Amino acid sequence: MTKINENFLKIPASYLFSDISRKITEYKEQNPNADIIKMGIGDVTMPLPTASVNAIIEATKEQLDSATFRGYGPEQGYDFLRNAIVKNDFNDKNIDLEADEIFVSDGAKSDSGNIGDIFDKENVVALSNPSYPVYIDTNAMAGRAGEVGENGLWSNIVYLNSNAENSFVPELPKTKVDIIYLCYPNNPTGTTLTKDQLKKWVDYARENNSIILFDAAYEAFITEDDVPHSIYEIEGAKQVAIEFRSFSKTAGFTGTRCGYTVVPKALTVKASDGSEVSLNKLWLRRQTTKFNGTPYIVQRGAEAVYSAEGKKEVKALINYYLENAKIIKSAIEEMGLSAYGGINSPYVWVKTPDKMGSWEFFDYLLTEKNIVCTPGVGFGLQGEGYVRFSSFAKKEAVVTAMGRLKK
Ligand code: PLP
Repeated sequence: MTKINENFLKIPASYLFSDISRKITEYKEQNPNADIIKMGIGDVTMPLPTASVNAIIEATKEQLDSATFRGYGPEQGYDFLRNAIVKNDFNDKNIDLEADEIFVSDGAKSDSGNIGDIFDKENVVALSNPSYPVYIDTNAMAGRAGEVGENGLWSNIVYLNSNAENSFVPELPKTKVDIIYLCYPNNPTGTTLTKDQLKKWVDYARENNSIILFDAAYEAFITEDDVPHSIYEIEGAKQVAIEFRSFSKTAGFTGTRCGYTVVPKALTVKASDGSEVSLNKLWLRRQTTKFNGTPYIVQRGAEAVYSAEGKKEVKALINYYLENAKIIKSAIEEMGLSAYGGINSPYVWVKTPDKMGSWEFFDYLLTEKNIVCTPGVGFGLQGEGYVRFSSFAKKEAVVTAMGRLKK
């Protein structure tokens, strides 16, 4: 008899954003004229940079001619994009990486989920609470999370609590962990670590032979000097860290799909026979077997993000969302509520008033103000009592929503 991977039965059946959509649909059915402003989901609203679209059009035209047509490409990405990434995102910023340490992909969701393939099931995983749900769900699917308790916590996961009491700077684990997920600027809290704070994690990983999986999907939103753009700004990180990046939020590629993962050649782990194994080689083996590469035309679109025109357009996109975040944050603070993030991030994390639960406040905003946010508890228990506002909306809608809130 066929056996299924029963780990799938242990994870909640529906995804947070499906629950939110269902609530919106139900409300809309009962209130068809309601003008609902969505500030929940983290999808961008501004179109792609013209530079990227033009590059995609040109690359598409190449497909009409057998001399320039492209079939299967290198699974790890074309050299033109790997070279552009390594130059612009790292070498120009004094980070010494090489193109063969960059693995182009269809995005940071797939990579941060799939990376577990190269790690044993017995590893002890630490992740922040709250966090981007993909980390916990993919570990649960792999059987690495153990069993989920009545409190919603998994038996084999070490939770790194992140809340207002510790200024959203989680403490180092008290016990030894093997794999640590860090996401900065953080989804959902919008908060960051300084270089010194991140260095403590790199030092911990070096002392404990752990690996850090550093999700920098929101790197482009960093405005403050002391916030590292890459974990490789920290000395010694190349020996202990893998970094995920994405063109989704940076350049509006949420539908077009492109991201990349950095696996330094200096990153090795001891196998059970004592040999040093290169994670760069393991990930290459994994990707060349299970992934067929990001489409050529999309990679040309991503390459154009690094052109002079592309850089200008991306800067304008990021500033647009950051301006929205500023409007949200100051409106919420004016109302006397505590708001976090929004300075180096498109997300503003808000403490609910009067000790309201996350879903209770979500329902209140939906029904009384026709505003959609994301209930913080959907990102983990420590998110209870918070909601997340996303600045990925049209400015006019943000202004209207904040006006409604203040009334
Ligand atoms: N990592 C974090 C922290 C995210 O919030 C998201 C998307 O919301 C992703 C990764 C996924 O990015 P991509 O669109 O590249 O898959």
